[in-house]
Amino acid sequence: MIWNREAECMPVKEREEIQLKRLKTTLRRVFETVPYYREKFTQSNVKPKDIKSLKDIESLPFTSKADLREGYPFGMFAVPRAEIVEIHTSSGTTGKPVVAGYTRKDIETWSEVMARALTMAGTTRDDVVQNCYGYGLFTGGLGVHYGAHKIGATVVPISAGQTRRQLEIMQDFGTTIITCTPSYALYLAEVAHEQGIDRKKIKLKAGCFGAEMWTNKMREEIERRFNLLALNIYGLTEIIGPGVAHECQEKCGLHVFEDHFYPEVISPDTLTPLPDGEKGELVLTTLTREGMPMVRFRTKDVTSLQREKCKCGRTLARIDRITGRTDDMLKIRGVLVFPSKIEKALLEVEGIEPHYQIIVTRPHHLDEVEVQVEVSKGIFSDEVKHIEELKKKIERHIESAIGLRVKVTLVEPRTLPRSEGKAKRVFDKREL
Ligand SMILES: [Zn+2]
Repeated sequence: MIWNREAECMPVKEREEIQLKRLKTTLRRVFETVPYYREKFTQSNVKPKDIKSLKDIESLPFTSKADLREGYPFGMFAVPRAEIVEIHTSSGTTGKPVVAGYTRKDIETWSEVMARALTMAGTTRDDVVQNCYGYGLFTGGLGVHYGAHKIGATVVPISAGQTRRQLEIMQDFGTTIITCTPSYALYLAEVAHEQGIDRKKIKLKAGCFGAEMWTNKMREEIERRFNLLALNIYGLTEIIGPGVAHECQEKCGLHVFEDHFYPEVISPDTLTPLPDGEKGELVLTTLTREGMPMVRFRTKDVTSLQREKCKCGRTLARIDRITGRTDDMLKIRGVLVFPSKIEKALLEVEGIEPHYQIIVTRPHHLDEVEVQVEVSKGIFSDEVKHIEELKKKIERHIESAIGLRVKVTLVEPRTLPRSEGKAKRVFDKREL
């Protein structure tokens, strides 16, 4: 199912022409209306009229989260404040939040890309969409909401939390599509199981899961527990919110809505673009945003680009599932480790629950990693010897995956904290 066949399946050459035209317009606008860009472009000795091809984008300076913070609150807006009809912000846990302003047309664009995303998961006007992303300043809730409205589906704006109520409504309203973080989906499944809810009473057919990193193993787990199709959604406040990219049912990467967002993957070290297929940092440029256009925004998300034609018929480029962030890659005893690699290794061992924490310490000037992981109920009633064996097995498995020895601690089911939003799994307690 394709929401906008014309836009999503158009010949690549034709789309590139549209992208270039929109890029030029965006650059002219930001140069004229946003002092930040005018200054940045001037420093880099580049003018909007110098950009004659899509490749020329490489001569433009990057925009970072720090730049956006400096412009707090409305410094990055390209229109007068009166033109802004809605504001969202990032969580701001690590400083001033990033403020994003939307014009009426931006809200329309957001609705359009989210309609495309939800349609990839099979959503139609006959569906009931239970939206467990948080409503409010966070973009997750309203982004999904607008997309579901555009399709004409029945949206249940329940927002995050109230797990028991979520499950009750899921059964009573016959929810068919669910949207939430993957860790919350697992938690819902866990509570449903504890409450002895009959799986036949749950009518879920698909879910759009995102806002945090997750692995294919976790996908299989969610699909098995809820008997649904679990797809990956990607987005960020700085660009528009959810709806920058979404996975189609082929599950071979997330299609970027390239007529609105131009993707590049760069080396975080040299800052030069990488060839397709190579992992690096995702950089995005908005092509149609009015309120707050972004030029070469460094997302810090690690992925790669692929452009081979997808079996689904869409000609949109795809990004690989996000496998890490350039800023929370852990450096342990000099080795770079992505927490997602530890997760992947963990979930390959039988008897392990998908709930874990990674704790990094430096007790004697040497980094140590402890992985606390929940095991299935039966294990703790087993002989001590078996518990010890399982622990060793996981340690070996992680070591072969990341090349580092870690200490594994097995904990009883339901002892690690659960989250209703983004799960915090890595605790770096080193004093560096
Ligand atoms: Zn596809």
